[in-house]
Amino acid sequence: MTTAPQDPSPSKLADEGFDADAMRERYRIERDKRIREDGNEQYIEVTGDFADFVEDPYIAEEIVREPVTDEVEVLLIGGGFGGLQMGAKLRDAGVKDIRLIEKGGDFGGTWYWNRYPGAQCDIEAYVYLPLLEEVGYMPSEKYVRAKEILDYTQRLGRHYDLYEGALFQTEVTGMEWDEPSSRWTVTTNRGDAIRARFVAMANGPLHRPKLPGIPGIQEFEGHTFHTSRWDYEYTGGGPLGGLDKLGDKRVAVIGTGATAIQCVPYVGETAEQLYVFQRTPSSVDVRGNSPTDPEWAKSLEPGWHRHRMDNFNALVSGVPQMEDLVDDGWTDLIGKMMRRFREGAGDSGQSIGEIMEAANFEKMNEIRARVDELVEDPDVGEALKPYYQMFCKRPTFNDDFLPTFNRPNVELVDTDGQGVERITKKGLVVGGKEYEVDCIIFATGFEVGTSYARRAGYEVVGRKGETLTEKWDRGVKTLHGVMSRDFPNCFIMSAIQGGFTANFPHLLDESATQIAYIIDHARTNGHTLVEPTQEGEDAWAATILEKANGGIGGLGGPECTPGYYNNEGKPNPGAIQAGPYGEGSIKFFQLLADWRDEGSLEGLEFSG
Ligand code: NDP
Repeated sequence: MTTAPQDPSPSKLADEGFDADAMRERYRIERDKRIREDGNEQYIEVTGDFADFVEDPYIAEEIVREPVTDEVEVLLIGGGFGGLQMGAKLRDAGVKDIRLIEKGGDFGGTWYWNRYPGAQCDIEAYVYLPLLEEVGYMPSEKYVRAKEILDYTQRLGRHYDLYEGALFQTEVTGMEWDEPSSRWTVTTNRGDAIRARFVAMANGPLHRPKLPGIPGIQEFEGHTFHTSRWDYEYTGGGPLGGLDKLGDKRVAVIGTGATAIQCVPYVGETAEQLYVFQRTPSSVDVRGNSPTDPEWAKSLEPGWHRHRMDNFNALVSGVPQMEDLVDDGWTDLIGKMMRRFREGAGDSGQSIGEIMEAANFEKMNEIRARVDELVEDPDVGEALKPYYQMFCKRPTFNDDFLPTFNRPNVELVDTDGQGVERITKKGLVVGGKEYEVDCIIFATGFEVGTSYARRAGYEVVGRKGETLTEKWDRGVKTLHGVMSRDFPNCFIMSAIQGGFTANFPHLLDESATQIAYIIDHARTNGHTLVEPTQEGEDAWAATILEKANGGIGGLGGPECTPGYYNNEGKPNPGAIQAGPYGEGSIKFFQLLADWRDEGSLEGLEFSG
């Protein structure tokens, strides 16, 4: 294990006596250790020999139906929050003829797939769940369990009448523009060929599971699965735990991201032996869940939901607010920064950047001190401490993960930033030692930096016969991330050249509002076609490059330890151009609202 400069203690930090240079150097060393030449290429695509990893284990009954070959006004791809929110806004705009296609067996998107034990919303449900006031729903807890979110997505489907005509257990295989009829033809793995005037693609930001390209991964003879396809038949139990079939099993979990943090306590509870293979420690903050107070819920005034979402988004984007409505580990950093201002840090000549950095050191000190409090073995504790700035990687929140390492049947295998060396027939190798196991659970996350079509699972062929991938290989071009020229009437819901916020459904809400506005304009004015002008998308690509900061819309950055927030530590011009608006989501959402208010729809051309 590397020897590190001493942690500044919180009290020392309060006196401003901590050694910031030493800490910066420690952060740099930890980052450099993890930078890999292969960047995103280190991961394996889940096709071919690995296709089993993405099969649906949750299907109760296979849907049997004839291929569909009709025409609809709007076709939505994806039945997660993106497709649902798009459908809701279109219904509000009076669109009746909507058909939704979804790979899973029902609505839910990420919450359909992620049913691993302990799966829970780690952003406050009162801001994470969309359309709460519209639907009249109040989450049961501050951080609700996955099942409640899944049920809620289905409630949205019913409320907005989106089950009507929806095609579940159906994967889009391609879509192609037909110029003479000005329609898209969308094909699927069930032989459907549906014609649509407009298509909105809500494929999901973290949708395609990824596997680490560890040498020997195919040699392992035991059981394997990815957390987003949890195999309860093998483990027993359910999302609330009780994994009783693991009692005589030696289990490996690879990864310590937000998913592993939630499921490891449940595996540790029942497995005969659990090895957790760690490459980079997560910051694990207090969870502190609580049931919803009915009196508080009754006291809320109309408009409370939007107000709370905006407040949270501002605080996690580093924009000071008069109040902190969510008041949890996500918003604590900005709280610390504001306290420093109140204590006069600004008057003493410190820049905003310096004050923010000091608040960040203080926050991460607390996170590291929490490890010491909760983990008995000091060596294990040291290995579990994250050394990077908060928001370099996605923070996590859990009260059971760290104490799990006090169990006699649980061992942390820290790889000192290098990852698992090799997988053999019988287990995993780290530091020359083989750990024999019966089962490997891949908590290794989802593709982020790969091509849009690869993640979506299908190609989009536009007016010139060119695919979106071919066009974007020359540099991503869109207007505000929602449309690309020569792909008329086709809308994209993603963070590509758009806004990024930790509260992803908020971003989807803003995208859906923008797209519904454009579709409504085309419909009410009788236009057949809409697409960006060349000048419009050139200018937007230039803006994206000009504002880029090397991370995802204000998070991450080149100085950070690698992860999906900074394209695995390898920002390149292509990735930057495909990234979100660098000034953050608050300014981006305002820019869209101003654009709509101004009303000339600059950057788009309508015809027909
Ligand atoms: P992540 O991408 O966050 O984590 C993947 C983990 O696998 C990391 O710890 C990574 O290490 C590790 N890893 C990758 N390759 C190797 C290797 N070769 N050897 C050892 N370890 C390896 O995936 P998650 O599924 O945890 O989370 C993905 C996202 O899903 C989250 O960031 C979050 O946005 C979302 N999520 C949201 C939740 C919610 O409640 N809203 C709950 C859970 C997830 P390294 O860090 O070094 O790359």
